[in-house]
Amino acid sequence: MKKGKLIIFSAPSGSGKTTLVHYLLQHPELNLAFSVSAASRGKRPNEIDGKDYYFISPETFKQKIKNKEFVEWEEVYKNNFYGTLKSEVARLLNDGKNVIFDIDVKGGLNIKKQYPDNSLAIFVQPPSVSELKKRLQSRQTETPEKIKMRIAKAGEEMQYAKDFDVIIVNDDLEKAKKDAYKIVKSFIEKS
Ligand code: 5GP
Repeated sequence: MKKGKLIIFSAPSGSGKTTLVHYLLQHPELNLAFSVSAASRGKRPNEIDGKDYYFISPETFKQKIKNKEFVEWEEVYKNNFYGTLKSEVARLLNDGKNVIFDIDVKGGLNIKKQYPDNSLAIFVQPPSVSELKKRLQSRQTETPEKIKMRIAKAGEEMQYAKDFDVIIVNDDLEKAKKDAYKIVKSFIEKS
């Protein structure tokens, strides 16, 4: 059987990467499955445990770090831990799937390093910091304090764009969707 591929989407929060990942998951011919990360933050009202994240307590998260259960993990925001479980990646690859990740910039590069032969790391770039701010505010899921925190982090994360295999600039969502589809399809079809 052909070895599954790893498609990594990383970007500052608010860049639209989650929308692109969801869009790609609607295409059965890409044979993609979403890698559900573990997270120690609280669940948002529209999220489902086991589908968006495995929501666990900071204590359980730290225990899993000790047990070496993660491919990678990051304290993305203070006291908010996120990580990719080894068991999750193994399960999806064993199912014969290509695995798609929606993770932060450092985590994305970390996975790429561990799977250099069969991974593609895509950076989704928001058009500008002011546009990013607008998007985060209109989402209405975060407090002004949290938005500030995310904007500050975004500036830092933009500097890693050059280390990715591909950059998609998301200034026009429909175009970004088409670009993402083309890029992922051709990578998956490559032997
Ligand atoms: P949010 O709280 O908005 O769902 O996610 C915050 C950030 O954490 C996003 O940039 C998201 O991509 C990232 N993230 C989600 N899962 C993981 C993971 O498993 N590992 C890492 N390093 N970052 C993650």
